[in-house]
Amino acid sequence: MSEDLETLTKLEYLTAWRTWRVWMSESGPTLHSVSTSAALGAWTPCEAMEARCGYLEMNPPACACESCPGDDTLCGIYAYREAPSTVHHEMGMVGQVALWGTVIEHDIGFRGQYAYPLSFTHGHCPWCGSASKPKLLPLDKAMVLLPETGEGWLGWVCSKHADKALKQATVMDTLPEPKSWVVKPGLEVVKAIAELYQVGIQT
Ligand SMILES: [Zn+2]
Ligand SMILES: [Zn+2]
Repeated sequence: MSEDLETLTKLEYLTAWRTWRVWMSESGPTLHSVSTSAALGAWTPCEAMEARCGYLEMNPPACACESCPGDDTLCGIYAYREAPSTVHHEMGMVGQVALWGTVIEHDIGFRGQYAYPLSFTHGHCPWCGSASKPKLLPLDKAMVLLPETGEGWLGWVCSKHADKALKQATVMDTLPEPKSWVVKPGLEVVKAIAELYQVGIQT
């Protein structure tokens, strides 16, 4: 064994808040960023998400920074400074995220170079509160709407509106391969996601 000292890298990260969509397929759940296409925005379990230019499909066209996120650009992994009091994105699951590497500070949040989820905390019901500001529900009070077979985005709903959500999902399901939708307790579904991503749940 070498007597040489090893160089240790101390990792520090910043804790912020964000929203993920969850795609459910036969191979299990996948977290996705809300503002990108499904193909670009997938978060891999136990792997840091890395920002890249062109990550946001926005107009004006994406930047080409030397290192992402750039100072004066839109690229980077977005997160909010404060825990949300209302929903920022429909269909989302809210939680805490670690940001590290280059992190650019803005008024309401940050753009980070690397990110990984730290905890999952809330879902929401689109029928509670107003349409533009649905109320956040702690995950132990939320229900999840998911396809029983095949693939689809998870939806969140309160127990009072679960039947309504189920009916709507069934009606809106498209041919030629309609799925059969089910409602499950939020915590049960989130536990499986948390286990896969090795992330905690806070309720
Ligand atoms: Zn860029
Ligand atoms: Zn509701």
